[in-house]
Amino acid sequence: MAVKTWRVVKIRYCDHAGQEVSLESQVVYPAEWMPDQPPRTLATRCSHGIHCSLCNGPACVWAGTNPTFDPFLEAD
Ligand code: SF4
Repeated sequence: MAVKTWRVVKIRYCDHAGQEVSLESQVVYPAEWMPDQPPRTLATRCSHGIHCSLCNGPACVWAGTNPTFDPFLEAD
């Protein structure tokens, strides 16, 4: 049976949220009888994105309020 789960891709401190947040991907791992099938990524989100999307003003691409800024692409 295929397994669908959220896994953490990257963790970083976000200045906008003032805390550590994680970039998460929803991944489907294939059933055991399909070993050659690679895992598929269905969606990607920020763990704090729902809160930022409700704030006033632009945040970032993961909040859906500023498509030109992605904090997870910034150099560490
Ligand atoms: S949605 Fe964007 S601004 Fe909000 S915490 Fe995540 S990375 Fe930071």
